[in-house]
Amino acid sequence: MDAAFTIWFTGLSGSGKSTIGHAVARTLRARGFKVEVLDSGRIRQQLNRNLGFTREEIETNLLRLGYECRLLNRNGIVAVVTAVSPYRDARDKVRAEVGAFIEVYCRCPMEVVMKRGAAELFEKAQRGEIAHVAGINAPYEEPLKPEVLLNTDQLDVENAAEQVTATLELLGRIPRVESAEYTAKEEEMIKRRLQDLGYL
Ligand code: ADP
Repeated sequence: MDAAFTIWFTGLSGSGKSTIGHAVARTLRARGFKVEVLDSGRIRQQLNRNLGFTREEIETNLLRLGYECRLLNRNGIVAVVTAVSPYRDARDKVRAEVGAFIEVYCRCPMEVVMKRGAAELFEKAQRGEIAHVAGINAPYEEPLKPEVLLNTDQLDVENAAEQVTATLELLGRIPRVESAEYTAKEEEMIKRRLQDLGYL
């Protein structure tokens, strides 16, 4: 089997990280990989309960997640992380630590995420009842060179997940499966993008 790797989903709350991350995990499991999904929110309720949302605490949370990814990866387990991870610096530090790192940016306009699962969170932030909400009263720094860019207001979950698996195939992280559902044209677009960014 190929060496394991980490797929890191970043984006605003409600942008689809968890939904698409779990869809990708299902596909990889069906293809014989062991996969662990690490959700930043869940881990904050358990291991990282003492951490808040200052820039420094967010970075600590992400570096710990990255450490867990390394442990999983070196034991042959693919790690799928879903974390807002709003700071570019922190994500790049984790990328450097993890090594086999594929960044997936779930890009979605605020008007759309507000109508999805995280509406209440954003409304509270707008009323000033909670602080540190990325996109409202805290920054979200977009990735400059994510391996995968998903405009989740325009793609359905299945199609988004397929773009991730197609990218993993093109990067040689997982074996190619001929029956994959995306078209040659879609594959060509992904390939060109990876070449332009210097990943291929
Ligand atoms: P996040 O993990 O980024 O906070 P979630 O995946 O928990 O986001 O929530 C996104 C919500 O948006 C879910 O309720 C999901 O069903 C819905 N949704 C609607 N369309 C999409 C799409 N194209 N991609 C991902 N999620 C979508």
